[in-house]
Amino acid sequence: MGKMYIIAGPCSAESEQQVLTCAQAVKDAGCDVFRAGLWKPRTSPSSFAGVGAEGLPWLERVQKEIGINAATEIATAEHLNLCLEHNITHLWIGARTTANPFMVQQIADAAEQSGRTTELTMMVKNPMHPDIEAWIGAIQRLQKAGVEKIIAIHRGFSDTISSTATTCSMRNDPLWSLVMSLKRRLPNIPLICDPSHLTGNSELVLELSQQAVNLGMEGLMIEVHPNPQNALSDAKQQIDLEQLRTLLNSLVIPHSHTNDIALQALRHEIDRIDNTIWNLILERLETAEQIGHIKHKAGMPVYQNDRYSTLLATRLKWAEENGLDQQAVKQIVEALHELAIAKQI
Ligand code: PEP
Ligand code: MN
Repeated sequence: MGKMYIIAGPCSAESEQQVLTCAQAVKDAGCDVFRAGLWKPRTSPSSFAGVGAEGLPWLERVQKEIGINAATEIATAEHLNLCLEHNITHLWIGARTTANPFMVQQIADAAEQSGRTTELTMMVKNPMHPDIEAWIGAIQRLQKAGVEKIIAIHRGFSDTISSTATTCSMRNDPLWSLVMSLKRRLPNIPLICDPSHLTGNSELVLELSQQAVNLGMEGLMIEVHPNPQNALSDAKQQIDLEQLRTLLNSLVIPHSHTNDIALQALRHEIDRIDNTIWNLILERLETAEQIGHIKHKAGMPVYQNDRYSTLLATRLKWAEENGLDQQAVKQIVEALHELAIAKQI
């Protein structure tokens, strides 16, 4: 299993027996942490909302008797304090809470006030909408409160403008390039993937997990249930205990280093191509500057919305025709346009 950080367990803690059975299997499969949701953020008020604080002693038993750390989702300062009272120190902030800076700040304040920040491992899921700043902001609030062990969890984004054909069969859109920009911005925060909430489909969990580790993600949070069909929440996406073992055995963990000559040659090729692109960008900027002179003489404004909209639309169409991520291409177009505008000003 390499050095992947694996968290597994049911979406929700349903009964003491279900928790203990599942935790034993998760531990035996070699996972690092057992997960089980106690307070469930549900869209509909008639859905199962979790057993709440009643399940805390169950998680304590998991830690004491089975010998694996237990993690649960917290959404309020009160949840954090209750968990600490029961020595549950592995906690995650769910997608719906990350989006709310007030809630995150209250949790961060409670962590600081507890005086136990060094014991905590806080995990932060990305918000539902593709707002990387809110995700980073939540992580920074915890850092400012003195929490040292922080992990980011990628669980996909709903409500995106660019669901591609491959992602629309899934519950959420991975927007891999956006997630990789989190890694660039916060290189010291481990990034793990939650293939269960991302796909919403137990049949796609293995494939998605492999994609995530191929991209360099450092771990996985997987929903697993002794009897997924009867799960009280997220029944469609939970795998069973046998499937967890199969998944962990079949996962191929890539090496981070190789001396392969072909790789080095291709990297030189990439450097050469980037150099060509760079020269083209300079050429584009010179042309933009000439356009700027003409606009100035004609008394036209530098920024013209119509022109930008047409330009963006054609580039997004090229992106679509070539199966490229629209969001990433849009960022390239925006950056090129900003450089050109700066030149013209
Ligand atoms: C969960 O982990 O059970 C959960 C509710 O996840 P998310 O916040 O990603 O929807
Ligand atoms: Mn779930």
